Amino acid sequence: MTEQRKIAIPADLLPSDGRFGSGPSRIVSSFVDDLASLGTSYLGTSHRRPRVRNVVASIREGLTSLYDLPDGYEVVLGVGGATSFWDAAAFGLIENRSAHFVCGEFSEKFASVVAGAPHLDDPVVIAAEYGSAPVPEEVAGVDATSYIHNETSTGVTAPFLRIGDSLVVVDGTSAAGVIPLDVRSFDAYYFSPQKALGSEGGLWLALVSPAAIERIESINASDRWIPPFLSLSGALSNSRKDQTYNTPALTTLYLLDRQIALTLADGGLESAFRTSSASAQHLYTWAESHAYASPFVEDKRFRSPTVVTIDIDASLSADSIAVALRDNGIVDVEGYRKLGRNQLRVATFPNIPTADVLALTACIDYVIEVM
Ligand SMILES: *Cc1c(COP(=O)(O)O)cnc(C)c1O
Repeated sequence: MTEQRKIAIPADLLPSDGRFGSGPSRIVSSFVDDLASLGTSYLGTSHRRPRVRNVVASIREGLTSLYDLPDGYEVVLGVGGATSFWDAAAFGLIENRSAHFVCGEFSEKFASVVAGAPHLDDPVVIAAEYGSAPVPEEVAGVDATSYIHNETSTGVTAPFLRIGDSLVVVDGTSAAGVIPLDVRSFDAYYFSPQKALGSEGGLWLALVSPAAIERIESINASDRWIPPFLSLSGALSNSRKDQTYNTPALTTLYLLDRQIALTLADGGLESAFRTSSASAQHLYTWAESHAYASPFVEDKRFRSPTVVTIDIDASLSADSIAVALRDNGIVDVEGYRKLGRNQLRVATFPNIPTADVLALTACIDYVIEVM
């Protein structure tokens, strides 16, 4: 491959911060500075002691407020990220058979975990084409139904509904902390904190309903073998004590706690959603008004407010645009690899001010003009 000629974008066009990735996503820099100042009083101290457990308690209380959780709902957390929650759910949340509404890489991954679990029946998979979303429908004979609130790989926000009486299990990783939802429409809403919630990775969190808790405890009491690390019952009992089964990253906990507090102070989900939507709308409008760009998600109802995917005309290379931006400190706008399209993908999480998104499109325009 020949090296691409370097393009210098004029400094006055550049955004205040070059991070536009969908995860790990932009973290508020002052939180990182504050964390450094806690280098000897918080980092390197026991996660079983009040200093750290108070942070976990604050995260659990913060999420309870942010989502206005009704009595009986609980915030559960464990080490490992949303990926390990899929394994935990296959062991501890699905009784026999689940239905999966899939529309991209992440929703497919959960379905394939379940398909590989020898103790479960083959899942029912209802798939939509990439760039679209499946229509929720009643599936007979399942005890859990899996949806994704926002498919990070394709930039699709999918509707989900409680249909029938199975547990509703929703991946909220790139929506949590931004897209409002009716809490009574799910039983488990799980996510990793390094995407919409602008923190670090390695942790999963789940908001669970009384019905989900009942299911977790009844499977736990059955004779199914459950690896201790993946036990949701174990996660539940540890979470109630404001700790995790094994050692978490204290950095992740600290940053997440600060981000949740910021979201609450800034007006909660409604306000976060407004910020993200304004940024996303700018990008979609920008793409629609340029001959060389178009929104990948055609149906406006499914366009994500937090992860925007833009197809680039075949006469230009999206990868070359991304390389030119990267040379100028603007990073992680490459399309999702496995989608394999000539595409840019831009996060519009609330930590990224709309002014930076405006600056980003000005930089893309500049790069294309001189390329
Ligand atoms: C990133 C992502 C995951 C996986 O998260 P990890 O923290 O890497 O396990 C799962 N679901 C969605 C929607 C994601 O965006």
